[in-house]
Amino acid sequence: MRRAWLLLPALLMTPPVWGQQVCECDPLKPDRMAIRNCSLCGEAEKASGEVFFVKDISPRKPNRWLALPRRHSAGQHHLHEMSGAERIALWKAAIGKARELWGGEWGVAYNGPKVRTQCHAHIHIGRLLKGVERDINVVTVSRIDQIPSPKDEGIWIHPLGTKFHVHLGEQTTETALLR
Ligand SMILES: [Zn+2]
Ligand SMILES: [Zn+2]
Ligand SMILES: [Zn+2]
Repeated sequence: MRRAWLLLPALLMTPPVWGQQVCECDPLKPDRMAIRNCSLCGEAEKASGEVFFVKDISPRKPNRWLALPRRHSAGQHHLHEMSGAERIALWKAAIGKARELWGGEWGVAYNGPKVRTQCHAHIHIGRLLKGVERDINVVTVSRIDQIPSPKDEGIWIHPLGTKFHVHLGEQTTETALLR
């Protein structure tokens, strides 16, 4: 964990990409950690285990949970920049928790980079809303390790029998889930 933060000066020199915040939080600097975009980074500092869960703090989303990796990764903590093993562990944990909470009605959603407001990677967990199903930009996979990881898009996933229906091509994806 400590070693990751030694890389921070290099990250801070990376120019910000349009529409994305570059994470500048630093556990050694409380004022930085107090930045609103970094509040989930602060949660990660308090957590244990490879993946942890928090209830969405928004009073407008009383039914939502989040799954997060404990490790901070570079800048915006993009899912496609995590190692395959880390990403699979995160999806597995998120889907496991979603099933536990919502049985066969579960859904999980990762917002695209243009609409994310929190720098720390997080997957939204909730009940899939009725009427959101569509058949464009969607792939069906049998296993969690087959979930694609696009660079510039969000992802939302729900069960399709024993398989996974993976929706791509959108930025705001959490709206597929009950608030
Ligand atoms: Zn941060
Ligand atoms: Zn973080
Ligand atoms: Zn679907």
